Amino acid sequence: MRYVILRDDDTNAFTPVKCLERLYRPFLERGLPINLATIPEVATDTRVQGGELEGYLLPQRTGPKGQTQQSALFTQSEYGSERAELEAGPRFGTEHGPGTSRTVLADRQISRVTDGPNAKVVPIGSNPQLVSYLHNNPGYHIIQHGLHHNWLEFDRVPAIEVEGRLDRGTELLQEAGFQKPQTFVAPYDKLSRSSFAALAKRFRIISTGWYELKRLPASWWPKYFARKIRGRAHWQSGDTLLLSHPGCLLSCFRSYDRMFDIIQRQIESRTLTVLVTHWWEYFREGRANERFIGILHETAEYLASERGIRVISFSELAKMGLPR
Ligand SMILES: [Zn+2]
Repeated sequence: MRYVILRDDDTNAFTPVKCLERLYRPFLERGLPINLATIPEVATDTRVQGGELEGYLLPQRTGPKGQTQQSALFTQSEYGSERAELEAGPRFGTEHGPGTSRTVLADRQISRVTDGPNAKVVPIGSNPQLVSYLHNNPGYHIIQHGLHHNWLEFDRVPAIEVEGRLDRGTELLQEAGFQKPQTFVAPYDKLSRSSFAALAKRFRIISTGWYELKRLPASWWPKYFARKIRGRAHWQSGDTLLLSHPGCLLSCFRSYDRMFDIIQRQIESRTLTVLVTHWWEYFREGRANERFIGILHETAEYLASERGIRVISFSELAKMGLPR
């Protein structure tokens, strides 16, 4: 039997329900679980190298002449009102100081440091439409994706802040009614040594790209070498399952011509494959990318029809352990 875990990263308070619905209805209808790596409290001004706003903060895009582009999928007024409601609604507000952002959540205040002077953070629970959609579709499994998803968040965060950030993220997901997550996905798949150590105390599964010796706690090194010698993609240290993935195979930055073949070949080459994608990559420039969505849906059909393949959630893997 070959196992496949579908991991979609970057769901956050600004994720439009219609994007997830468009992408994943064919999976949900076939009983294929989708693991959403969810940002508990997204920072609204995270930028990628080069200065562009992160793709998951869709669809606010500045055009080449500085104007905000209208999109076919989200009209400016539709998005604008949703965003304004989230940022200034009765359940949420921000005050700013240099390098800090004070979030007022319902009746209590939490101070936190975020990346820039204009940084704001928005908790997942402030989008009731998204939260109830996720609750109403039990095929979605919510796993934790950082806290704010700042640039290289759990690689750059000072060791002293790691545990607080992890716990706060978990708390916010639970406040939104989701189960305590057992799986953690690091923003940008990057973790410092202190982050690894803190994660192992809290999560059963870490899902990332690959593992570098210098970033791992020294007590994990013997297992790391044993896994290297055996050529295993996934390994275990203590109770923690350490999963790697073969890159983001479902990505708009790759060639569409061979995408489906490569996915098939990767799944056939190992017992357990973590397939990673990002919902927002299917809707860049505010328009649905029909060709890319077609490949995703072709993948759903393939996974459902192959008798030797079982699609599982991370929580199912936590129960059964790593397959041999
Ligand atoms: Zn991410």
